[in-house]
Amino acid sequence: MTIKATTATAGVLAVSFAFAGSALAQDLGPNVRKLADGVYAFVGENFNSNAGIVLTQDGVVLIDSGHNPIESRKLMDVVKKLTPMPVRLLIDTEPHPDHTTGHFVFSPPATIVAAAGAGDSMRGREREAPQRIQQMAASAPAMKEALEGYRFVPPHVEYQQRASLAVGERNFELYYLKGVHSEADTAVFLPKERVIFSASGIVNSQINILRPFVTIPDILAAAKLMKGLNPEHVVPGHGQPGTVKIFEDTEKYYALLVERVGKAVKEGKSLDDIKKEVKMPEYASWASQDRFPTNIEAAYKMVTGK
Ligand SMILES: [Zn+2]
Repeated sequence: MTIKATTATAGVLAVSFAFAGSALAQDLGPNVRKLADGVYAFVGENFNSNAGIVLTQDGVVLIDSGHNPIESRKLMDVVKKLTPMPVRLLIDTEPHPDHTTGHFVFSPPATIVAAAGAGDSMRGREREAPQRIQQMAASAPAMKEALEGYRFVPPHVEYQQRASLAVGERNFELYYLKGVHSEADTAVFLPKERVIFSASGIVNSQINILRPFVTIPDILAAAKLMKGLNPEHVVPGHGQPGTVKIFEDTEKYYALLVERVGKAVKEGKSLDDIKKEVKMPEYASWASQDRFPTNIEAAYKMVTGK
């Protein structure tokens, strides 16, 4: 009897292990997309930031840590469903809070890598908004719970211009992208798997926020560089993953915007007039229309040189 019971238990265990080892995409929740073997996108709802999960023989590599600590913990749950291995490396595509507040969920043990300037940007924000985490915790009981054990975790390693990382059987090519979104944007390319995480200079079906140091030529240069890597899958900073069409849509949008703003400048219109008059009805369905004035300003600067 005892032997029989043991055998039965072992059988059940073997079955559940086999199941855990081949977790199907639908078991991982609706926001997880399998892009290649062991490569997943964790897609933020309603344009919340995206993250990436890459399994390797030597542990897990994450690209960003989720939109906020609630999302970070969901991301961690997905990782645990996929593998018992630890998160070894976390690559930041940018230093903004909607990509980095949840670092404490993964580090330690994860080592965090970012482009030069990311740590300064994060520390600056901590100084400017010391109440940030308290306010976040007060926003909802679930957020308060998710923030349990919060620590500020800036990057451990910063690189300049380019970096190649090898973890297990995988390679990660990091490209610093100048002037596209934040002070320290990184595109992450997996050359064998042909997957690129573009960072937030590129978003899908959304108007981007163009800060004063962001330029349209820099965004177009970044799109060209990333398209030139010939990826099969493109995971933007925000919005649904897709193909290089996301880069092409970005190029078309800015070309039309610059054309319209250029025409208005030639007609002698002021920036204020242009802000009132220039519209992009072709893109009315894109999210975050309130950011459009910052797009006009960047196009005006490009056209006039001021
Ligand atoms: Zn950002």
